[in-house]
Amino acid sequence: MTVAVTIEEVGKSFGSGTPALAGISLDVAPGELVALLGPSGSGKTTLLRIVAGLEQPSTGRVLFNGEDALSVPVRRRGIGFVFQNYALFRHMTVAENVAFGLRSRPRAQRPPEAEIKGRVADLLALVQLEAFGGRFPAQLSGGQRQRVALARALAIEPRVLLLDEPFGALDALVRKELRRWLRELHDRTGHTTLFVTHDQEEALELADRVVVMGRGRIEQVGTPDDVYDRPATAAVFGFMGESSRIEVDVREGVAVAGSTAIAAATQPVPDGPGLLYVRPHDISLGLPGTPGLRGEVRAFRRHGAIRRVEVEVGNALFEADIAPTVRVPIGEKVAVRLDRARLFASGGPGVDCRP
Ligand code: ATP
Repeated sequence: MTVAVTIEEVGKSFGSGTPALAGISLDVAPGELVALLGPSGSGKTTLLRIVAGLEQPSTGRVLFNGEDALSVPVRRRGIGFVFQNYALFRHMTVAENVAFGLRSRPRAQRPPEAEIKGRVADLLALVQLEAFGGRFPAQLSGGQRQRVALARALAIEPRVLLLDEPFGALDALVRKELRRWLRELHDRTGHTTLFVTHDQEEALELADRVVVMGRGRIEQVGTPDDVYDRPATAAVFGFMGESSRIEVDVREGVAVAGSTAIAAATQPVPDGPGLLYVRPHDISLGLPGTPGLRGEVRAFRRHGAIRRVEVEVGNALFEADIAPTVRVPIGEKVAVRLDRARLFASGGPGVDCRP
């Protein structure tokens, strides 16, 4: 059974200072996979722990299917929780670990042993570890352990699945594989899932919706396309992958760095200080004299399959991605074209701009 989760004006203070959560409201639909994304200290874990019942909010409510969840004891809330370093019981086999939640129920609610065994076998098949039931955690890889942790969380047939950086301790390749695997698992099991990560790629790839958090507040909630293509704030843009961030002065809708006019806003924006964000793949370089801003190559480095070039325009430095076969000596004059850029003027919402 899967439920709708409603978070209503949830605030949390740990004594004096800035609150960890400053009035968060969020509706999660039944079966939805929502990523809580944000920098360290933005309140992601605190919010997850409040939904789990491990922490009491200072203000606000949490509802499951419209019913107050905070008054329900943690053990009866029906939460499956997986942490970054899920401490599996080391002295128990994989199968015993998965069965733990069921076997530790009060006798009246405990399924018969044969049923527990059947369910454990099904869950191990689900996480593709059928042959590993007799092993001990120490005999598994990190990725396999997290799959056991997930099977264990699913064993109690949770109403809500909460995952706190479940792949955070794993290396990049295993992480990527488990991400895909988790999405498939979710599509099959359909649990309402809240997933904490500080990895934007992970959030964008996995989630139905992404909640971008910053300093105890929600900066933006939207589909992966919304938050990546239409970031509501400079903070969200800055958090969505690498980008050049240029401090500009906005004068009559034109972003000026030093004395160079760099881009014009496509919608009216207030005059004053602003920030211009451009992603490295949204810049192209051309021969001098072709359309674009006049720039000069300052540095370049290999960046995976592409070459990343630093170009100076006026007093602003942009990073641009080009094919590794293109030669760009330092000091070379180039035409810099901003294919897509976003201007955030005086902290207002961002608008697209063009050179
Ligand atoms: P990370 O990605 O580093 O885990 P986060 O976004 O999950 O960060 P939280 O762990 O929720 O952030 O912390 C939010 C704020 O609340 C931080 O400033 C943190 O220091 C504070 N905080 C969290 N738990 C406690 C606690 N038990 N006592 C005091 N302060 C706390």
